[in-house]
Amino acid sequence: MIDSGKIWMNGKFVEHDEAKVHVLSHVLHYGSGFFEGIRCYKTPKGSAIFRLKEHTDRLFDSAKIYRTEVPFTKEEVNKAMMDTLNINNLEEAYIRPLVYRGYNQLGVNPKTCPVDVMIAAWTWGKYLGEEAMKKGVKVKISSWRRLAPDTMPTMAKASGNYLSSQLIKMEALEDGYDEGIALDYNGYVSEGSGENLFVIKNGIIYTPAMNGSALPGITRDSIIKIANDLGYEIREQGIPREMLYIADELFFTGTAAEVTPVSSVDKIVIGTGERGAITEKIQKRFFDIVEGREEDKYGWLTFINNV
Ligand code: PMP
Repeated sequence: MIDSGKIWMNGKFVEHDEAKVHVLSHVLHYGSGFFEGIRCYKTPKGSAIFRLKEHTDRLFDSAKIYRTEVPFTKEEVNKAMMDTLNINNLEEAYIRPLVYRGYNQLGVNPKTCPVDVMIAAWTWGKYLGEEAMKKGVKVKISSWRRLAPDTMPTMAKASGNYLSSQLIKMEALEDGYDEGIALDYNGYVSEGSGENLFVIKNGIIYTPAMNGSALPGITRDSIIKIANDLGYEIREQGIPREMLYIADELFFTGTAAEVTPVSSVDKIVIGTGERGAITEKIQKRFFDIVEGREEDKYGWLTFINNV
């Protein structure tokens, strides 16, 4: 069970065990929630939240897509996230803000229900395992496709979208893999259940274009900038399934997954079957920046004052 200490709910801190919602809350029945996953890293200069602005912007954008007005300003939400880290004495954490439709009526129309906001934070290690950062993870192509662009908006990080992710993840685990990758409605590679994907072939880095089937990841954006700075050519385009099989290297990106290599797809070994050289370079630069060993020239870190 998550031990998240005090949780911020609509402007007040409540004890972990008291952080409750009514069973008739709209979000429980219809998936009407919008959330973020954000990491705070420990650096030599103190703890710092990675790309806070972009995450908060995406949270508000997700709500906007669903005609939902967040009853706090971005500044208030940012301060609440800082306060949640401080009150729980967290130096390193995963932060989970959620904007959700609460309790009033129970028709489909969410507009009859209040908009509530909660923020929790807790320590969360490597999402796909410590060993995976070097050895990589085993992946299968899911029998489930990701959403088509005119069905449900994938630019929104909405709770309901994660039913698709759950199907992909459960199928992969049941079948003995660590993670699944779904194709999009056209049959091109989309994303993992909670990660974007990068493909390396002959020194060029490819990643699926954001065409409405995957979440535009903030880690993805960071990795594109890092890879460009390292001198690599990046191509955002349609990627057919078989391109994964013949890739030299593959890796996932995400707030939880950070930069995790993929060692095989459908039991076909990728490259050497371990983290490749380019992946290692990019992964190292990413961790050097977020953990404060390298200058934060992009302005990605927001330092918090630990008490
Ligand atoms: N795709 C999905 C479906 C996700 O849940 C996530 C994690 N938020 C990502 C991609 C990666 O996004 P980010 O790098 O912003 O965490």
